[in-house]
Amino acid sequence: MVIEKHELSRLAAPKAGPIPPFCVGCGYNLKGAVSTRCPECGRTFVAREWEAKAAELARDGAEIREANEWANRGLYVALAGVVLTALRFVLLASCLSDVFRMLGALCGVACLFLGIGTYRVARLPEWVTEELAPQPNRDLGAVLLVIGLGLAGIVFY
Ligand SMILES: [Zn+2]
Repeated sequence: MVIEKHELSRLAAPKAGPIPPFCVGCGYNLKGAVSTRCPECGRTFVAREWEAKAAELARDGAEIREANEWANRGLYVALAGVVLTALRFVLLASCLSDVFRMLGALCGVACLFLGIGTYRVARLPEWVTEELAPQPNRDLGAVLLVIGLGLAGIVFY
């Protein structure tokens, strides 16, 4: 296979952000490689494929960071929901009770969405997490789902 000149120059000056040239087939890091053949799986390096895949991974990484940030904010929403729901039971005789009931349930629904967000984004291959983003925080997502279900469910009591 003939390697096009522009592909070699792209190899020398990667434009895929922080991701080094890697094998699209197996993820092997090709930084500093002298051959266009992957030493791990034998696949021929094609700059266009690498750039497309790197751009895709960068998008996934950005989505993961965003989902994790929202999940972190979800903890405050959960806390607010617990406080509002507690106030509702404290003020059971007051007409404010129903307001707190609805606000608590709304916080619960918000927690559900923020928790699900960590499951909707794709996990990254492990070899690229250092450059791009951590994995989706699905443990926190699960906590938010449980709290959200509790807050949304208790509205019926
Ligand atoms: Zn490979």
